[in-house]
Amino acid sequence: MHAVLERLYDAPLGERTLAAAHDLLPGEWDRLLEADERYAGLFTDGIGPDGQDRAGWLAGAGSLLGTYFTLENPNRLEPAERELLVESQLDGGPLLRGIVDRLDVAPDGALRVVDYKTGRSPRPGYETSAVFQMRFYGLVLWRERGVLPKMLQLVYLGDGQVLRGEPTTDHLVHTEQKIRAIWSGIEDAARTGEWKPRKSKLCGWCAHQAICPEFGGTLPEIPEGAVALRLGITG
Ligand code: SF4
Repeated sequence: MHAVLERLYDAPLGERTLAAAHDLLPGEWDRLLEADERYAGLFTDGIGPDGQDRAGWLAGAGSLLGTYFTLENPNRLEPAERELLVESQLDGGPLLRGIVDRLDVAPDGALRVVDYKTGRSPRPGYETSAVFQMRFYGLVLWRERGVLPKMLQLVYLGDGQVLRGEPTTDHLVHTEQKIRAIWSGIEDAARTGEWKPRKSKLCGWCAHQAICPEFGGTLPEIPEGAVALRLGITG
């Protein structure tokens, strides 16, 4: 989906149609398979994680594209950037990095950060992590460009909802404080060598399950101070 929505904007205005987006799907999927063989691992005996074959899988993605076109008209948008790598070094903290799906810049310079999600929007009261992610991008862009983004927008193609937020400097300062607190926890773990794995939905994407205690694995011996050295943590 991300690849198609990125490529779609290569077409000139007027040609960014739903049919054009559908046409991009098989080629973009093949391109991903070529780029990283792990994508092929999503299918076992031709059946994907949602129990469908390749045609059904692509049809599901096509349906998400249909939802996208109910939310935005790509013929009325000219993104300034797509798949934009943003990064900023926090003094005494980590290097913040992320890839922004789309950045729109209004004639007056106002920035709108757009991120696509293939899943459903969070239930009311469970938006914390989505808001944090949006503000993370907002913070990195603010630090990188010196411009406070006007709008942070998450587009949920799973249920056609759009989560929008207008960040303030207070929001982004608070986000930085939160990141520093998380980093401080990482520094402590690196110094003590105590890393506590925590099972979550993301485990399905984790390359370290075989050695993860949560999955019955055993951590390899880590030379003393190696993690701290790798993370650039001193003291
Ligand atoms: S498999 Fe283990 S290390 Fe990987 S995300 Fe899950 S808990 Fe963390």
